[in-house]
Amino acid sequence: MRHVALVTGASRGIGRGIALELARQGWDVCINYLQHREAAEQTAAQVRALGQNAMVVQADVADGPAVEAMARQAEGELGPVSLLVNNAGVAGQMQFQDITDEQWNRYLAVNLGGARNAIRAVLPRMLSEKRGCIVNISSIWGLRGASCEVAYACTKAALIGLTRSLALELAPSGIRVNCVAPGVIDTDMVQVLGQETLRDLAAETPLGRLGTPEDIAYAVAFLASDRASFLTGQVLGADGGFIV
Ligand code: NAP
Repeated sequence: MRHVALVTGASRGIGRGIALELARQGWDVCINYLQHREAAEQTAAQVRALGQNAMVVQADVADGPAVEAMARQAEGELGPVSLLVNNAGVAGQMQFQDITDEQWNRYLAVNLGGARNAIRAVLPRMLSEKRGCIVNISSIWGLRGASCEVAYACTKAALIGLTRSLALELAPSGIRVNCVAPGVIDTDMVQVLGQETLRDLAAETPLGRLGTPEDIAYAVAFLASDRASFLTGQVLGADGGFIV
């Protein structure tokens, strides 16, 4: 039987790293993206070069029906999805009093609603097969809080609540739900901070460097593996010791 993973936001950054590491571990991968089709196709080509099947699906994770259609397409082309990685996310810096309703709602809709949409889309099949694995990508800022990133930090804290609650609800059905909380990872997302702030954040990280997408991918691949078969409801910090 083939192992099929759906990774949201896998065109770039951490999601791409996750897709490639899963492929190395023998997973076929459905690569979701929002805007960057060419980048998503590159990830797919890299997955295929590793000997696994790959497909690319454009869908805004905030759009429930689009996510539902993506899951059906993945099942149709690759087979039943037994691993979902909720990685797609948006971040931004602003003071709390400047966040508009539109921005607040968008953060929630993508970072938290997107995970809910994707889980709802793959869960019926996982429940009927009594097996499955869900990994949510949170953040150190969801654990610690973040000045000028209140909306983002709220959504990332909520993903931890989602992970723990759903883990309890789905454990009797043989479905594990875990979470990875990355530290500062060197991707497009953090470039807006500027090189000086990134240097400071690396210095603030006990291991003295920023993380790479691979650092997070290894943690996700472990949680998805049989070696983690007794782990559910956990938050695995992959942060160079930022939060100890
Ligand atoms: P990134 O470089 O900005 O990449 C974001 C990815 O998500 C892209 O593939 C993008 O697709 C996709 N995406 C964004 N909005 C989407 C939507 N509405 N629907 C579907 N796909 C969407 O971000 P990253 O740094 O790799 O972060 C990935 C995840 O890790 C996020 O959840 C982020 O919050 C979390 N995280 C990141 C860090 C960090 O320091 N980088 C730290 C902690 C947690 P397109 O390419 O099509 O735009």
